[in-house]
Amino acid sequence: MKTIPHYFGTGTAAEAARFGDVFDPNSGSIQARVVLGTAADLDKAVAAAAAAQPAWATTNPQRRARVMFRFKELIEANMEELARLLSSEHGKVIADSKGDIQRGLEVIEFCAGAPHLMKGEFSIGAGPGIDVYSMRQPIGIAAGITPFNFPAMIPLWMCGPAIVTGNAFILKPSERDPSVPVRIAELWKEAGLPDGIFQVVHGDKEMVDAILDHPAIGAISFVGSSDIAHYVYNRGVAAGKRVQAMGGAKNHGIVMPDADMDQVVADLCGAAFGSAGERCMALPVVVPVGDDTADKLRAKLIPAIEALRVGVSTDKDAHYGPVVTAAHKAKIENYIQMGVDEGAELVIDGRGFKLQGHEDGFFVGPTLFDRVTTEMRTYQEEIFGPVLQMVRAKNFEEALALPSQHQYGNGVAIFTRNGHAAREFAARVNVGMVGINVPIPVPVAYHSFGGWKRSAFGDVNQHGVEGIRFYTKVKTVTQRWPDGGAGDSAFVIPTMG
Ligand code: NAD
Repeated sequence: MKTIPHYFGTGTAAEAARFGDVFDPNSGSIQARVVLGTAADLDKAVAAAAAAQPAWATTNPQRRARVMFRFKELIEANMEELARLLSSEHGKVIADSKGDIQRGLEVIEFCAGAPHLMKGEFSIGAGPGIDVYSMRQPIGIAAGITPFNFPAMIPLWMCGPAIVTGNAFILKPSERDPSVPVRIAELWKEAGLPDGIFQVVHGDKEMVDAILDHPAIGAISFVGSSDIAHYVYNRGVAAGKRVQAMGGAKNHGIVMPDADMDQVVADLCGAAFGSAGERCMALPVVVPVGDDTADKLRAKLIPAIEALRVGVSTDKDAHYGPVVTAAHKAKIENYIQMGVDEGAELVIDGRGFKLQGHEDGFFVGPTLFDRVTTEMRTYQEEIFGPVLQMVRAKNFEEALALPSQHQYGNGVAIFTRNGHAAREFAARVNVGMVGINVPIPVPVAYHSFGGWKRSAFGDVNQHGVEGIRFYTKVKTVTQRWPDGGAGDSAFVIPTMG
């Protein structure tokens, strides 16, 4: 069986005391095993990072940016192979895997402009003969801990800004689909990145804890579920590190009575069921405003959902593929049962879905609930599967309150033709990323990504200018070039007064 190794600056390493199973979600079989590393493995990566980082940090920024250009070309040249590899472990359809890679690549494009973004500020003559200037310097060694659902995009969100600003970066990807990150490491090397600047260590909680506690790692970026994000944030900050930790989500789509219903149905199908609902920016809750709107929407949604094609990830006509593991499939199906038990109306039941020829694959059929209410656990918690829940709101205020009061605050969307309602909604909703007639409002690479409430711990977003800030420290220099005469001692705080 194939073993997926660590990727150290010194080469790959496939020895381990523990291994994790990597499945083929289409067939349900184990296709590979991944090494589950220890603190000693991390030490090796940190030693290589520490050896390489000072020279990388003093390589001029334009040269660092050139590595971004070469890496981008290599990713593009290998897009097909990377997408197939990604789909084979994750289960998303190939076109969606290409999107996963492409969205990450756009962050690399942005990073090619980093020399500009790292420029500091300068004030001449802040006092007599005194100038003040600032510069951005790398943290040193940064680490990223990433989830299974975007095994290319999320590592690239992190490593691009970290590397181009002069850091060494150690990635601990999800142990469920770890192969693409190793390919990314190989492509960085091919692009000319020095050994030790991008490394991959695999593992589970043991490796995450080693990263959180390692004194040489100065910054940690985490994306995953909220409880773990909170844990990572607390432990990392307690160890004196800079931490950003993105968590789970339960994004709502508000449908106003004047919305274009056909477009809403098309948007909802893609956003709720694409990638089998395994996206933190999926739209698993729809909130029609008024019973009339709800009834109209429901009548159009049912046939659209019934027409969805679930297939293997290589099926070009499939709308979505299997979920990532048997355990995750069971978790989703348990939530469906819980919804029934809680009293929601199960309109379309995706449980027990079998794909002919792939009976052991981890498939879940599309599921629709109506009359979901806020006290239900299935509403409060993240299901992370192809399950759409309809929560009926009486009016705009009630609809606005739902995502605003939810524990998660990642993304939200409003569908309307009324500019005033949209504007009001965007200004008042207590959520980090808002779509107006846009179902999945993932900001483009030169803006930044981040939710609110339990969807993100820490105060700096991913990528864009925020990403550059996260991976750099500001140093401010006050300089004085006297004209030769000696001054007196000053015993009061200096002012420019
Ligand atoms: P997860 O929390 O299970 O795993 C994320 C990472 O944490 C993995 O690398 C994993 O190895 C590690 N980990 C798991 N258990 C741990 C533990 N007990 N202690 C320390 N580390 C641990 O998440 P997942 O299932 O891989 O990904 C899905 C989740 O990620 C969903 O909740 C989704 O909403 C969220 N997500 C959020 C965003 C965002 O930007 N807000 C983006 C993508 C995914």
